[in-house]
Amino acid sequence: MLVNVLFVEDEAKIANFVRAGLKEQGFVVDYCDNGDEGYLRALDNEYDVIVLDIMLPGKDGLSILKLLRRQGRNAPVILLTARNELDDRLEGLNLGADDYIAKPFFVEELAARIHAVVRRSVSDVYDGLRLRQNLLGVGPIKLDRITREVTCNHQAIELTSREFNLLEYLMRSPGRVFTRTQILEHVWGYDFNPNTNVVDVCIQRIRKKIDPIDEAVWIESIRGVGYRFRKPDPC
Ligand code: CA
Repeated sequence: MLVNVLFVEDEAKIANFVRAGLKEQGFVVDYCDNGDEGYLRALDNEYDVIVLDIMLPGKDGLSILKLLRRQGRNAPVILLTARNELDDRLEGLNLGADDYIAKPFFVEELAARIHAVVRRSVSDVYDGLRLRQNLLGVGPIKLDRITREVTCNHQAIELTSREFNLLEYLMRSPGRVFTRTQILEHVWGYDFNPNTNVVDVCIQRIRKKIDPIDEAVWIESIRGVGYRFRKPDPC
């Protein structure tokens, strides 16, 4: 299962180091450097984990956490805290943070914490707590991230592992346009040759499986940019 992480941190040095490290460990990392944007991204997308620095320009990490929980958003949150921010840590845990990690830290340690909170949230599925996060449904297409089953209009669709990962990546953010480079980086690994057309080929293969079952075009090509999963019209 691809693990999608939102990482909000304003210190460029830490941010670059952690982003590179997490990607190397196989995580899909969406990054932003301020609290206001971080909050909006967390609302617009379904992440498996949100890694939040506490001191941020715009909304601070604790305010973001509080707002997300108030909106019923249950994605696990790991707070990054400075050594002297014990009160913040306690407040964060009270506000519904799942874990915290004190700076400075090793990326490997953060990666281990991420895996731990994801494992917990996946096992919660069976208690019905985070069902929404593991079942993605957009229009007639339903995708189960644990069993890796996909259906369209209740008909099963057989996808390869790569096709599944690509579809999942697009379906997490309906209406958002992803460039080929972003898709390559997230689905194939970040040092893949950007001149390849594997993304287009893979998209064609997925469309061939979905299009005969539903008349709407769900994966849209955005000329000169990339692809997006269509946002269904509001009922
Ligand atoms: Ca900071």
